[in-house]
Amino acid sequence: MTLNSDDFGIFGHYPFELPPLPYAYDALEPYIDEETMHFHHDKHFATYIKNLNDALEPYPFLHNVPLERILCSAKSLPEESRVKILNNAGGVYNHTLFFRGLAPASEPVHEPEGKLLEAIEGFFGSFEHFKEEFSDEAKDVFGSGWTVLVSDSESNLDIRNTANQDVLICEGLEPIILFDVWEHAYYLKYKNERADYIKNLWNIIRFK
Ligand code: MN
Repeated sequence: MTLNSDDFGIFGHYPFELPPLPYAYDALEPYIDEETMHFHHDKHFATYIKNLNDALEPYPFLHNVPLERILCSAKSLPEESRVKILNNAGGVYNHTLFFRGLAPASEPVHEPEGKLLEAIEGFFGSFEHFKEEFSDEAKDVFGSGWTVLVSDSESNLDIRNTANQDVLICEGLEPIILFDVWEHAYYLKYKNERADYIKNLWNIIRFK
């Protein structure tokens, strides 16, 4: 993949800006509490945005490049800043999708339907079984990372775990749903009980 800019999509380009939450900070209660949302969005997510902008600032040739191209062009990035750029670009990418991928429990969006439901049933047997398998994977993430339902270019589904802020798009995999299993996503409310957080997250994951 080259650095030629074309489609900025939902992620934009330098200077990146913190996208506002598409719902109120307390809208995901009781599954994610208001205080966690303030820390997660206003502090953690905002820090990835700031650090990415700081890392890109000295390199004008990267200022008009879409985020996904930055992520998938590791070899074209300046060596001395490569790790910082990729880590923070991954953080911006993952959190942009994560917060957009949640919705208040009262909204009728938390179960897949149509083609996605058919695909989930085809690959995992049933939606219930898919949730079990996905939850088990999410519990298994060692340290900080993500669990992601991905689709390849032929619409094959798979559940993948990633470490830190790694992403899967450069393998041609499109994320459909993402669980943030970094402790910062749940520690204030759930402490060490990641399994409870994972179980509750299904109530607010957006499938449509
Ligand atoms: Mn996070």
